[in-house]
Amino acid sequence: KELVITIDGPSGAGKTTVSKTLAARIGYRYIDTGALYRGIALETQERGIAADDEEAMEAACRTIDLRFKIENGDLRLYSGTRDISELIRTPEISMRASAVSALAPVRAFLTVLQRRLGEERSVVFEGRDMGTVVFPEADVKFFLDADTEIRAERRYLELKAKGQDLDFEDVKKDLITRDANDSSRKLAPLRPAEDAIHVDASRIGIDEVVEMMAKVVAEIRA
Ligand code: C5P
Repeated sequence: KELVITIDGPSGAGKTTVSKTLAARIGYRYIDTGALYRGIALETQERGIAADDEEAMEAACRTIDLRFKIENGDLRLYSGTRDISELIRTPEISMRASAVSALAPVRAFLTVLQRRLGEERSVVFEGRDMGTVVFPEADVKFFLDADTEIRAERRYLELKAKGQDLDFEDVKKDLITRDANDSSRKLAPLRPAEDAIHVDASRIGIDEVVEMMAKVVAEIRA
């Protein structure tokens, strides 16, 4: 049985690593939906559109062409012919993505795109509203969380590994602000789906989390 699997949760909980590893292990595709929000944030920033200008954002969405490509086993995001995978990973774009993700036309645009990407099934979707809004009928839903301190540390190390030398307290503050935005917005707020399996990654390693998830998936696929 080919499934749609969703993994939602706050920033820095380890969703990306977990989703990627789980997908590779079961031979599924992996889709990072946060990258799409970041792509919209980057493109509209370059065009000088204010993050709260709903009309301009809606018009811009219609002209933005985002697609994923797998290159050397890596998921890359393109806007037209331009590889924007690195450009979208800055603190500024993180915060702007969170702001534009509160707008109805942006969410509507990306929800359609994400559902299209899910049509073939056999895919792991990582995001904030995958199990609640985009795929309420998903076969397996996980909600991955971890203590704030641990999430901030994980995000800090991740950015550092990418060559961004930031202050830990700044990274933590940004993460808390973004989670508060994402949880309090009216549309598709960050919250677990009623039928989601909660996983707390504070005191267990990523490998253990993936192990547990793979078991759940195997049982459902059987
Ligand atoms: O997951 P990532 O940190 O890359 O996501 C960036 C931002 O995009 C989040 O803070 C959130 O505001 C938004 N997002 C969303 N819904 C999703 C995925 C991401 O609103 N499914």
